[in-house]
Amino acid sequence: MSTATWTAPAASSQSADGIARYDAIVVGAGVAGLYQLHRLREMGLKVLALEAGSGVGGTWYWNRYPGARFDSQAEVYQFWISKALYKSWTPSERFPAQPETEQWLNHVADQLDLKKDIQFLTRVTAAHYDEGTGRWEVTCESGERFNTQLLVACTGMLSAPLTDRFPGQSSFRGEIHHTGRWPKENVEFKGKRVAVIGTGATGIQVIQTIGPKVDSLTVFARTPQYVVPMRNPKYSQADWNQFADNYDALKQKVQHTFAGFDYDFGSPPWADLTPEQRNEILEKIWDDGSLSFWVGGFPELFFDRAVNDVVSEFVREKMRARLKHDPELCRLLIPTKDDYGFGTHRVPLENKYLEVYLQDNVEVVDCRATPIESIVPEGIRTADGKVHEVDVIVMAVGFDGATGSLTRMGIHGRGGRSLTQDWGKDLRTSMGLQVHGYPNLFTTGAPLAPAAALCNMPTCLQQQVDWISDLIAHARKEGKNVIEPTAEFEDAWVKHHDELVNQTLVADTVSWYMGSNIDGKPRRLLSYIGGVATYRAKCEEQASTGYPGFQMR
Ligand code: NAP
Repeated sequence: MSTATWTAPAASSQSADGIARYDAIVVGAGVAGLYQLHRLREMGLKVLALEAGSGVGGTWYWNRYPGARFDSQAEVYQFWISKALYKSWTPSERFPAQPETEQWLNHVADQLDLKKDIQFLTRVTAAHYDEGTGRWEVTCESGERFNTQLLVACTGMLSAPLTDRFPGQSSFRGEIHHTGRWPKENVEFKGKRVAVIGTGATGIQVIQTIGPKVDSLTVFARTPQYVVPMRNPKYSQADWNQFADNYDALKQKVQHTFAGFDYDFGSPPWADLTPEQRNEILEKIWDDGSLSFWVGGFPELFFDRAVNDVVSEFVREKMRARLKHDPELCRLLIPTKDDYGFGTHRVPLENKYLEVYLQDNVEVVDCRATPIESIVPEGIRTADGKVHEVDVIVMAVGFDGATGSLTRMGIHGRGGRSLTQDWGKDLRTSMGLQVHGYPNLFTTGAPLAPAAALCNMPTCLQQQVDWISDLIAHARKEGKNVIEPTAEFEDAWVKHHDELVNQTLVADTVSWYMGSNIDGKPRRLLSYIGGVATYRAKCEEQASTGYPGFQMR
């Protein structure tokens, strides 16, 4: 792509006031940030990535808690940059754990020579758009400032942890860690009395990992989860060679399925099957030990309550058997029909999670009956006045999903408007890629685009980065300096998004999916639910028709 017609001031290392100037600043050096840096650099832009951590990895840098691993298969949790890059790293198993994924992302960054353009230990705390110049001024925690034409936030969908959840946390005498800010130093569990608060996908991974090691484990459980056992075989070099040989087909496949995996809804229509045939299919996809039980089987479970009831009961029965039909454990750990239906919350994959509760050293505190009131020096006080004495508290209480990383960044757009205030009233974006009122700000993993909740993250993030990069290239070719979605386009996108959501059972869910875990957060499904293939087609339609929803000047 020629840069000859790009009329923006050429990037110089410093302006008169001593502030470094860039064509683009990428915030974050996780999966999206690394790829965005690569793409923009390939296009010839002067680009810098700012990263709060001391290393690359994003989610895989911060979430180094015991048991952390992804639940997309390694062959599709990938960069699709080149077959050579794909072949250059052989995962050890189908669902590798955090240390390996962090190493892999470092390997990718090294292969692409990205680290020289990443400034680590640099947290962005403010970004102000200057209407006069069409540029952003970015301020960091250290006070350091940067000036950039394009600001691309690759800040992650689940990267704003809810660290201060309970009164009295700082009074605790033992160790207390949020899983999303897990220390690099070893946290000792052996011989300790440990509490885990939260039984989402994260809490489940922690519980199944430390349960067998600790002296005693007290799980503070509120909303129960439907869980699916993970099948995680080791991969040999020969296995990986086979995946690599299939690189082009896999790359194509993940871009056109519902959730960005290599599997898709493929079951015959539910209504055409007998109960026995349905059960046979459910057993088959259950045995795959992946998220295909959720987004690779019957799409009807998202729309039809009667279908969802059957699938939910199928999962409940599996869980009851594993809990040896213990009535109290079943009551505390298995969702009922009145709670919610299978698949309307994120479905965690697990490995011997339920079996941990059968151990003598494990206790469950029912946080629905006795909510956590506060943290005291000795442990956790519940509403019945009881103090549960522990040495270590693991806070697996989740994140301010999709919006938190952006609203915590102090973003101010046209006319000084604040993204935090705007999104505090109504959560709106244009395909999750830009926000009206915030020119030259681009976002990935943001609300109203497919992301973690309903997508294999690398698939969606790379598509979003590619689309943003192509839009920037288009503007440069046209000699335009400022890109902003129109209010009309944004209205239409929000309407389309809501129409899709309202056809599904997910609309009723009470979880971070709808922002329900944050008091006062406007309720809207954070992820696009039309599917990766549909979303891609909508993005491509904008591109192929000259981006009519985006004003350029
Ligand atoms: P989460 O799903 O939001 O779960 C938070 C947990 O903390 C819930 O059980 C919640 O209970 C509980 N909690 C929050 N406040 C509480 C309180 N005051 N008292 C008692 N319990 C409280 O967060 P997460 O587990 O960190 O997972 C977030 C997302 O990260 C997942 O949905 C998934 O997308 C992603 N993730 C992926 C993987 C993977 O790829 N394998 C692993 C981990 C996480 P309520 O539900 O009752 O609010």
